[in-house]
Amino acid sequence: SPAGTSSALEVLHRVFGYESFRGRQQEVVDAVVAGGDAVVLMPTGAGKSLCYQVPALVRRGVGLVVSPLIALMHDQVDALRAVGVRAEFLNSTQSPDERAEVERALLAGDVDLVYIAPERLSGGSVRSLLDRVAAGPGISVFAIDEAHCVSQWGHDFRPDYLALADLVGRWQGVPTMALTATATEATHRELTARLHLEGATHVVASFDRPNIQYRIVPKDDPKQQLLKLIREEHRGDAGIVYALSRNSVEQTATWLAEHGVDAIPYHAGLDPRIRAANQSRFLRDDGVVVVATIAFGMGIDKPDVRFVAHIDVPKSVEGYYQETGRAGRDGLPSTAWLAYGLQDVVQQRRFIDQSVGDAAHKRKQSANLDAMLALCETVGCRRRMLLAYFGQPTDQDCGNCDTCLNPVETWDGLVPAQKLLST
Ligand code: ADP
Ligand code: MG
Repeated sequence: SPAGTSSALEVLHRVFGYESFRGRQQEVVDAVVAGGDAVVLMPTGAGKSLCYQVPALVRRGVGLVVSPLIALMHDQVDALRAVGVRAEFLNSTQSPDERAEVERALLAGDVDLVYIAPERLSGGSVRSLLDRVAAGPGISVFAIDEAHCVSQWGHDFRPDYLALADLVGRWQGVPTMALTATATEATHRELTARLHLEGATHVVASFDRPNIQYRIVPKDDPKQQLLKLIREEHRGDAGIVYALSRNSVEQTATWLAEHGVDAIPYHAGLDPRIRAANQSRFLRDDGVVVVATIAFGMGIDKPDVRFVAHIDVPKSVEGYYQETGRAGRDGLPSTAWLAYGLQDVVQQRRFIDQSVGDAAHKRKQSANLDAMLALCETVGCRRRMLLAYFGQPTDQDCGNCDTCLNPVETWDGLVPAQKLLST
């Protein structure tokens, strides 16, 4: 409605201090303010949070936001409070007293947005609390962030997310939103079906990240190659280095630090206090390089990450795209660099064969790996291949990936031929 639209813009200006909606945010906001459901597929950094935050402030009642990561929840709630939004969270880190206080505020209508961990919602007590809120002050919107976590075949499945399906439609007249940066058509179809959102407005934004330069190089001595990348192109820049094992994370971080890089490790095996301290150093200080397993980064909103480097091949194109997408959220030129070796592929095939999943799951993992290998081995434009993978084919080469910048003949054809001739 026109009235809804103008008050949405007013909220955008007054509360968030932004000039205008970006990309396709406005379409989503309009649909939800008018009471409709929405499925939102937008790349990392596009601004999915505002898509539910604005309708939550425009409509009557409290906005419920399901978000999988507790650390992330704290950051989002802090950021909202800083601009005067009454935001709270419900998760397992709270004491009974803190929880009781949030419940009281919810029932009194004193909360604009509440972030809830998915495991909280599988219990009956939070559900009945929310039923009382719906009947009292009201629920403005039910937003499921990182909605690809409902996909059992995806790269980031969380069993608690499956239980969210019964909440969709539970409260009369409350719009449901599912938001994710994972954009394959298969994931889109699966989350739509699982969350019963066939009738929603579906907004699928362009997945291109033109400021990211994609480069995939043959793996030789990955630590040295990485150091060269940092010294020659990213000295003093913030970056993320992904490795598959904790061991390799530790070794690489130590080695980089010995070679003058401000590098720190991050993986699930670290003491939680050290992990939290390392994450906040990366977020707060300039020019920190975090060496991490894929446990690091979902929802991290650091705008000036200048490079993301993979020293092991990712398990899927979805994972690769999400991880590299953490570079350059500020729109400035950034590098996505991957060292790819056949050794990794052999090892990953072995992991899949030895994993405990059923045959269908193994087939899916194997197909994911094959798609990733195809991206590594292509002699065509990497960005075109990525976009085509996400169902957004283009007929233009990008001019900003290694295969466009150094067409394959110059290194794959000529160099080996010269070597042959010179022996
Ligand atoms: P996503 O969840 O899609 O990865 P976020 O919601 O975390 O992205 O937003 C990324 C960044 O973009 C944030 O710093 C946010 O404040 C900023 N942003 C979002 N929408 C706008 C807008 N309309 N104008 C300016 N900045 C915006
Ligand atoms: Mg987000």
